[in-house]
Amino acid sequence: MTQTLRVTYLSCGFCAAKNRCEACGADLAAALLRREGISEAAVNIPDRTLRITHVLDGDALEDLLDGMGLLAE
Ligand SMILES: [Zn+2]
Repeated sequence: MTQTLRVTYLSCGFCAAKNRCEACGADLAAALLRREGISEAAVNIPDRTLRITHVLDGDALEDLLDGMGLLAE
């Protein structure tokens, strides 16, 4: 399933760019792609979107994102 979620990345709030940087998004996408069940991930921090293709159930995905400091709205 491919989903686009609105997200806030907590750690990026402490970056110099404060939720406007692209570097955090690239790091997060790489980290997500290393997880089982996720085949595509693109995180756009300035737009606050996460586009993800995965086979997880909703709760498992939310837990995973929470654990990374990525809060879905
Ligand atoms: Zn950042």
